[in-house]
Amino acid sequence: DQELAKLITEKLREIPDFPEPGVLFRDITPLLANGPAFAELIQLLADKYRGKVDAVAGLESRGFILAAPLAISLGVGMLTVRKGGKLPGPVIGVDYELEYGTARMELRPDSVKKDDRVLIIDDVLATGGTANAAMQLIEEAGAKPVAICVLMELLDLGGRAKLPDTQIDALVSF
Ligand code: 5GP
Repeated sequence: DQELAKLITEKLREIPDFPEPGVLFRDITPLLANGPAFAELIQLLADKYRGKVDAVAGLESRGFILAAPLAISLGVGMLTVRKGGKLPGPVIGVDYELEYGTARMELRPDSVKKDDRVLIIDDVLATGGTANAAMQLIEEAGAKPVAICVLMELLDLGGRAKLPDTQIDALVSF
């Protein structure tokens, strides 16, 4: 995990006041744009989870970028947990609170195999609302979310508290 942390920290870009004043946005595009670094990231993640999961669930949108190559490396399928209204039905959905307003994530339950061990992956864990919604959807669909993997965890936002009894693998914390 030290190698993973180094890779992410070195290639990260921090953008102040995006998307709103006062927010420091952690941007992974420099890491994605670096071919060898991106490949190494996926390789290291695959080494970490090989044999331990039956599917990888990517959270729209940046989670997709990580989930697809990881699923291929692991030889398992990928699930797409999408923002409300993007997936054709039949879908199940979970609504959750944002700082201002609400959001919704959806999943096609027929894409999920019963009792599969599912790894949830995204770039950032902030308030934990998105990851928590994904957990609920995967459980409702009959599978087992075994861990949440994020490249970065923003500790101040307290996401972990929303996800008790969950293995959260945060590769870098701020
Ligand atoms: P949460 O639901 O945990 O509050 O927010 C997590 C979602 O917001 C993730 O899907 C993540 O992509 C996005 N997000 C929140 N803050 C940041 C950030 O600083 N950088 C990036 N790249 N994504 C963020």
